[in-house]
Amino acid sequence: MSDMPIEEFRKSGHQLVDWIADYLKDIEKYPPLAQVNPGDILKRIPQTPPQKGEDIENVLNDVDKILMEGITHWNHPGFMAYFNSTSSGPGILAELLIAGLGINGMLWKTSPAFTEHEKAMMNWFRQMVGLPKNYWGIIYDTASTSSMHAIASAREQLNLGFREKGMAGRNDVPKLRMYCSEHAHSSIEKGAVTIGVGLEGIRKVAVNEKFEMIPEKLEEAIKTDIKNGWKPFCVVATVGTTSLTSIDPVEEIAAICEKHNLWLHIDAAYAGVTAMIPEMKWITKGWERADSIVINPHKWMFTPMDLSVYFTRKPEILKRAFSLVPEYLKTKQDAEVENLMDYGIQLGRRFRSLKLWFIIRYFGVEGLADRIKQHIVLAQEFAKWIDDEKDFELIAPVPFSTVCFRYNPGNKAEEELNKLNEKLLEEINASGKIFLSHTKLNGKFVIRLTIGSIRHERKHIEEAWELIKSITHKSN
Ligand code: PLP
Repeated sequence: MSDMPIEEFRKSGHQLVDWIADYLKDIEKYPPLAQVNPGDILKRIPQTPPQKGEDIENVLNDVDKILMEGITHWNHPGFMAYFNSTSSGPGILAELLIAGLGINGMLWKTSPAFTEHEKAMMNWFRQMVGLPKNYWGIIYDTASTSSMHAIASAREQLNLGFREKGMAGRNDVPKLRMYCSEHAHSSIEKGAVTIGVGLEGIRKVAVNEKFEMIPEKLEEAIKTDIKNGWKPFCVVATVGTTSLTSIDPVEEIAAICEKHNLWLHIDAAYAGVTAMIPEMKWITKGWERADSIVINPHKWMFTPMDLSVYFTRKPEILKRAFSLVPEYLKTKQDAEVENLMDYGIQLGRRFRSLKLWFIIRYFGVEGLADRIKQHIVLAQEFAKWIDDEKDFELIAPVPFSTVCFRYNPGNKAEEELNKLNEKLLEEINASGKIFLSHTKLNGKFVIRLTIGSIRHERKHIEEAWELIKSITHKSN
């Protein structure tokens, strides 16, 4: 009884790479958004597993026959919903190598090259986004996980014995409070829920007309909370909010955090990669004063899911919160190396840093920055088309590559406009040509178009605009 014979593996591997190459070459033949109903795919899959093995070729055929219709194609250039996550060629190859090596980087000893490579990539990436040398980096799966570790570190920094005694049933500690804007990503709330701060432990700070957190409101909230017996411990500033990519004023927020001794975490999951572009350096103002920051290469740096980069100036606090070493994980090198299992909830770790190595080396920093910059240029152009068209309006500023807009032919009540735009979005997505998403801003139903795919070219944005206009013309 053994593994697949090696020559069969070689042959199937070539077939699989051919399959992926054809898929990417012909991707535009698929609709970007899967046009199936709930349960359609599940009923095609046998309810019981096969007792005898079968050829990989059969399995691959069934990917086509059973799954493809239910795949929403994130790699499709018509995919302009949410924030793009696209797989570049070098990223896909790195994924294959990660599985081929199949190593687990829980300890330095379990693969010295893993730990040291991740350290080197974090050093590269730190320089790429212009963070100072005192930032220590680690790779997690997603920004949700990264931010949860930030919140846990912020709590640990309080030195209130939460690690030993927990939080529940204690009358020797105050209730904790953290702050973010009402536009922060839901992962911040999930992080608070996970570490026991609870949703009541989060205060949503009001935003100004550009949807940026108002620092005066933050300070007011902190002072009121202190007066009422809460213990403020953490502020999350977002650079590139999910709905509309607004930017919280990090410098002013940092000053308030320093005054009140609060942990400042920056969520730059989407927009952080733009710090690579010289003209966008302004977005990093104040970053050096943050305690931690998350940036997701799997959003806008052409990295297959998943890869989130977390930097902190205080890795010793992260380690204090999470390190727990049973006998069977002790090694002779413990005193001289970093064992990455000490810096988070997970023990086993995938060799994700290989993806950064392949992608950064293949495209070069300039190549990555040029591609991302081109997306910003295209978004500005699309925003101008919207602005110039009398029946459409921009609903938010466009600092990055996401455009929030709506159809507004005039003299219609807000409720009717919302219904009209909801219907327009449904028709756009049912066209099978492009996939857009939505949000609500100040009660308005807003359509979002994001440019950030490695496969986005000007023609795709032009085609999207023509399609949107043609659907509104048809419905009139
Ligand atoms: N933070 C921001 C600003 C986001 O927009 C998102 C997702 O879109 C996240 C965090 C969560 O990302 P992940 O899926 O990596 O957890």
